[in-house]
Amino acid sequence: MAARINIPPSLHIGANAIDLAGQEFKRLRRKHVLIVSDPFIVGSGLTGRVSDILSEEGITSTTFGDVQPDPTDRNVRDGLAILKENECDSLIAVGGGSSIDTAKGISVLATNSGSLFDFMGYDRIPKAGLPLIAVPTTAGTGSECTKVTVITDTDRDVKMMILDPYLLPAAALVDYKLTMSMPKSLTAHVGVDTLTHGIEAYVSKKANPMTDTIALSCITLVGLHLRNACNDPKNEIAREGMMLSASQGGMAFANSSVCLVHGMSRPIGAMFHVPHGLSNAMLLPTVTEFSILGAMPRYANVARTLGLSRGSDSDEDACGMLIEGLIALNEELEVPRISEYGISQKQFASVVEKMASDALASGSPQNNPIVPDADEIITLYLNAY
Ligand code: NAD
Repeated sequence: MAARINIPPSLHIGANAIDLAGQEFKRLRRKHVLIVSDPFIVGSGLTGRVSDILSEEGITSTTFGDVQPDPTDRNVRDGLAILKENECDSLIAVGGGSSIDTAKGISVLATNSGSLFDFMGYDRIPKAGLPLIAVPTTAGTGSECTKVTVITDTDRDVKMMILDPYLLPAAALVDYKLTMSMPKSLTAHVGVDTLTHGIEAYVSKKANPMTDTIALSCITLVGLHLRNACNDPKNEIAREGMMLSASQGGMAFANSSVCLVHGMSRPIGAMFHVPHGLSNAMLLPTVTEFSILGAMPRYANVARTLGLSRGSDSDEDACGMLIEGLIALNEELEVPRISEYGISQKQFASVVEKMASDALASGSPQNNPIVPDADEIITLYLNAY
């Protein structure tokens, strides 16, 4: 089957790309912008800076700054009300994946009736939303480059995944300078999210030659820069490398797919509010070990691309080194086990069946090199606990 590739029509990548926000909205013929962000970013002064950049081009703005991590349908509803009240004709998301995903949800609900729940899954949004410019401040989810939004349905405690080209930002301003303020733990968690995007896009049943190239580049950059970005936060080369890697990870997975790690990670986020990158990291070694036999040459190539194995090693040896390397990376980045995150065994066991069923319902595990059944997913959760 032919591969379909969707990426934003305009990408500006590099230091101070954020300064182009006004020019981009002018190009899009927009006059009044909703700035979507979270309380930390608003407090840092960044949304004020964006408002000033827009003013220079004669564009006015209103700020909705209440996005919470792992955003919910309520966040989207609140932002939509402010957009309508102020008659905004476009949006700019300034923040991590949570702000960008919330803005995507607001954008499509501004022009479509119904609720986000109606759009869950692939290609179910009837009409294009209002134009959105994405400015990521984490590196990261890659959401600035994806046709994906992940919003929690608060009635059912499920992280809904919606995939549709209408969710693509009209432009992304990928400015690594905005990530320099990330503390070590956030840098680590979002960096492992990026690595997981690269790996899952590459081993997915939906991988294609275009996403393979981008995914391997993403993995190479993580291998080169993640440790330095964590241990030396002011290292601009490392920050720039991780920002590029994050955008590439988004491009790769959204045009291939994520697999079992993401499928199992979303229910942990929905149930226990573990940050998304961290829950991925908690699962990555266990799920990789389970999946290896389904795509051994590809996992071996991941090991070589990360610099964990040499070309002369057999695929089997390289895969062993990959597992060891992922465990060591988690230790170095101080990723706790699920049991060390304040989640009791009783709590975890009481929801593990629902989590397995929600994971399967998301569709992501079906793209994994080995497709598990519900019992195998339960075992994997308990092994990772
Ligand atoms: P986030 O947006 O939830 O932000 C986490 C925290 O980091 C917040 O408190 C925020 O204020 C803070 N923060 C953001 N930038 C900062 C900076 N530069 N310096 C210091 N602090 C900063 O985190 P995230 O990991 O970027 O996004 C996670 C969300 O993205 C999850 O809901 C996940 O499901 C979703 N996601 C979406 C896609 C997609 O393609 N749409 C892909 C992967 C993940």
